[in-house]
Amino acid sequence: MALLVLKFGGTSVGDVERIKNAASKVAAEVKLGHKVAVVVSAMAGVTDQLINYCRSVTPHPNPREHDAVVSTGENITAGLMALALQQRGLNARSWQGWQVPLRTDSTHNKARIIDINAASLLHHINQGEVAVMAGFQGVTDDNSVTTLGRGGSDTSAVALAAALKADRCDIYTDVDGVYTTDPRIVSNASKLDRVSYPEMLMMASLGAKVLQTRSVEMALRYHVPVQVLSTFGNAIGSELPGTLVTDEDENMEQKSVTGVAYSRNEDKVTLTGIPDTPGKAAAIFSTLARTGIGVDMIVQTASHDGKCTDITFTVAKLDLDRARQTLESERAKIGFADILTDKNMVKLSLVGIGMRSHPGVASLMFETLAAKNINIQAIETSEISIGVLIDESYTELALRALHTAYGLDAE
Ligand code: ADP
Ligand code: ASP
Ligand code: MG
Repeated sequence: MALLVLKFGGTSVGDVERIKNAASKVAAEVKLGHKVAVVVSAMAGVTDQLINYCRSVTPHPNPREHDAVVSTGENITAGLMALALQQRGLNARSWQGWQVPLRTDSTHNKARIIDINAASLLHHINQGEVAVMAGFQGVTDDNSVTTLGRGGSDTSAVALAAALKADRCDIYTDVDGVYTTDPRIVSNASKLDRVSYPEMLMMASLGAKVLQTRSVEMALRYHVPVQVLSTFGNAIGSELPGTLVTDEDENMEQKSVTGVAYSRNEDKVTLTGIPDTPGKAAAIFSTLARTGIGVDMIVQTASHDGKCTDITFTVAKLDLDRARQTLESERAKIGFADILTDKNMVKLSLVGIGMRSHPGVASLMFETLAAKNINIQAIETSEISIGVLIDESYTELALRALHTAYGLDAE
């Protein structure tokens, strides 16, 4: 008998029939003798709608009240799921974040979990109840409701699994596992049976939205085995039909590249005509850091005449306007000629622990893109990833070409 956390994403609870279908999977696990906690997302589209309600009242909603509104989608599904389970004859109880409580810091819209006091919830599970927790939400020490960032129910689920010391956390979603790349873009992407925590962490942070990045960080830190699997069909988690995210082991295929991720979330900024003197990069990036703007890729062009240089970097889409305003206000101090921005960019990244031992991974990437006449505008590398910034219109072409070049296509 195991203790399992089952998380159902937006599509899996998209309407009442889907909620009933999800409840049947929970019931099947209970029938096998397992103790179960369930974490639910809002019904597909509901969180977007709630965000739009706030924006239609004011373009800059107060973060506390924004969270008060946006967190409510999950409350509805938690209650409906408990009802659907009761309807099947199971004992079930819904829990909102504050009732558990799942405590977070007060960074509204992307709060970090401080801890989960799961004692009471566990007591009910041990009494034979299924506990259904609303994902995505928590509560601060001063009783304000917070949300954990888009896709945050994954993190709620893994955090609950860690707090309960669960044997596994099953993430039910609209694909049947983690693929070599987004299967909605590359139709012959291959499903991975297992993927290591560091690779999944890289894929998630570089754009593969199948798991929220923080959920993978949490799984790695607390060694929670996570399975990504399909909500469609009759299979249940205990049959292990999905992809297991787990510690690296010798059974993992040692290809140089495990997957290709992409992110459209970054915009490009170029500052031209910067005096080529010490301290300019420091002035630019400390100005941005002071305003809380994170920078990702950075390229400095070599100066031809020893007098002036250009610096290109990327920032999150949401930060572009603020980055431009902040730099503009320091233009005289930093001394650059112009700010150019480009919103039509995509970052493609190869990920694989095999890169550590296979040379030539980057050169094949550059050759493959060159053969398709795709220009690379910035490059970023880590021990297990290589990323390039290219024009967004080439996303599909480049993803497919790289997928084939690294032998990832399904047979
Ligand atoms: P949920 O609502 O269940 O949380 P998400 O939409 O957040 O589901 O995540 C599932 C989606 O992630 C899939 O529909 C797929 O388009 C996308 N995705 C991106 N990269 C990958 C990948 N490498 N493997 C599987 N799915 C991926
Ligand atoms: N409902 C939230 C969102 O749409 C959280 C989640 O589904 O994980 O982002
Ligand atoms: Mg998600």
